Amino acid sequence: AQQRYASIRDKPATTRDGVTISLHMNAGLMADLPSLNSSGAEGVGLYRTELQFLTRAHMPKRSELVEYYARVMNAAGDKRVVFRTLDIGSDKVLPYMKSVNEPNPALGWRAIRVGLDKPGVLRMQLQALVRAANGRPLAIMFPFVAQWEEYRAARAEVHKVIEGERRLGHPLPDALEVGAMLETPSLAFAPQKFFDEVDFISIGGNDLKQFFFAADRENELVRKRYDTLNVSFLSLIERIVERCAISGTPLSFCGEDAGRPVEALCLAATGIRMLSMRPASIGPVKSLLRRADLGEVRKIIADARHRGDQSVRPAVMHWLRENG
Ligand code: PEP
Ligand code: MG
Repeated sequence: AQQRYASIRDKPATTRDGVTISLHMNAGLMADLPSLNSSGAEGVGLYRTELQFLTRAHMPKRSELVEYYARVMNAAGDKRVVFRTLDIGSDKVLPYMKSVNEPNPALGWRAIRVGLDKPGVLRMQLQALVRAANGRPLAIMFPFVAQWEEYRAARAEVHKVIEGERRLGHPLPDALEVGAMLETPSLAFAPQKFFDEVDFISIGGNDLKQFFFAADRENELVRKRYDTLNVSFLSLIERIVERCAISGTPLSFCGEDAGRPVEALCLAATGIRMLSMRPASIGPVKSLLRRADLGEVRKIIADARHRGDQSVRPAVMHWLRENG
C-alpha cells in the first residue's frame, strides 16, 4: 500500500489553497522506527512507552530504558520523537505491580494520576529519557492531564530530574519540550495560563471523544454511536485550536481519527495543523489533503452546522463525491 503513495512520500501535505499540514507517526516499538523514513513522516508525534513495561515479567531497569530510548532516538536521527510517559493504571495492569480493583478503570487511577501520587516509576522513566537524550533535544508528553496543576506538578518532576543529573555532572538534553495530552474535556477549559506555559499540546482524540460523549471506546455497543465529525465534537476541537492560537501553543492531534482521511481533512479544516497517525495512514491522508481546498471544506462544515446537521460527514462525503 505504501508503494501506491511512493510518488508523494517526500512531498508536503499542502492543500490546494496552500495550507501545509505536518504529518507525523505514532509508534511504540523499535520495529516501528523504520517506517519513519518509508512513510515520509516528519517525526514521531506520539511514542507510547507502555509496551516496554507491559511485555516484561519485571519492572524494567533504568539502565535498560536508557539504552532502549537511546536506540529509538538514534533510529529517528534528526527527526523529533515525542515520548509519552507511562499511561498505565487499572485498565492496563503491570503484572509485577500491586493492582487496585476499580469499578471504572478508564476513569480511575491511571496515567499521570499514578505518576504524581506514586512518583517512583515516573521519576525513573524521566531520568532514563534525560540520560538517553544525552546532549540531544528531548520532547516529553504527559498523558491524561485533566487540570492545570497536574501538568505543573509533572513538569516540576522533569526539572527535578534534570537538576539531579546536572549535579551528577551528566550531560543534559540540549533542548527540552514538555507537553500535555488533552484527553479530557476539562483541559480545554483550563485557565489561559496553562496554554501560555505548556510547550505543546496533543489532543488524544480516542480518549477525548470517549469522555466527551461518555461512550466507552472499548464497548462495541456504543463505540461507533457518536461520530467524530459530530458538530459538537468539532466545536470542542475548534475551541482548543482557538485557545492554542491565542498563546501560540503548538497543537497536534494524535488519536486514531488523525489517520482516517475524511476525519483528517475535517480536523485540518477546523484548524489542526499537525496530525500524528499510524505510518500506513500517512499516504492516504496526504493524498486527500493535497487534493482538497480547506476553505471549501470549511464552508461545507459551516453550512452543515447552520442547517443543524448532527454530523458534518454526510455533507463532506457528498462534496467529496462531487469534487473529487
Ligand atoms: C488517545 O487517547 O487518543 C491517545 C492517542 O492515547 P491512547 O490511544 O494511547 O489512549
Ligand atoms: Mg489516551
